[in-house]
Amino acid sequence: MPKSQDALPSVHLLHWPRLWVIDYDQAESRRMSRLLAYREVILKTLEQLRGNKTIGNSLEAMVHLNVSEDDLDFSTDDRELLKEMVMVADLDVHKGRDVVCQAEPTAWSRCDRCWRYTPDVGTHPDHVDLCERCYGVLKGRQ
Ligand SMILES: [Zn+2]
Repeated sequence: MPKSQDALPSVHLLHWPRLWVIDYDQAESRRMSRLLAYREVILKTLEQLRGNKTIGNSLEAMVHLNVSEDDLDFSTDDRELLKEMVMVADLDVHKGRDVVCQAEPTAWSRCDRCWRYTPDVGTHPDHVDLCERCYGVLKGRQ
């Protein structure tokens, strides 16, 4: 057997490279399990709103989530990640006795460039249909 893969006589004898190794530690694994459980609760609420035509898609939703008051580790970073996981306009998190989720259509306007609903759409008179982030991107290009 050759000592290095460079010396192999055929490409068919090469091993697949290990592109990445996911090595979650226990705390990160617990964190993701918690967030995935909250995600399921939020998705059920959003499904009901879509079903009764209150919203068209999740980006239109303002979500209020009660996380368990026993969940002492719930952080601002958790809120931001959970918001990205469910793709909603905004996610308001409180602690309560039970895990409860409510949602409603957001009052914010949709950015024509990124389709996110944000409070800053319409603040720039020369691009009233853009959010702050997209406005900055366009101005950066000019
Ligand atoms: Zn935008």
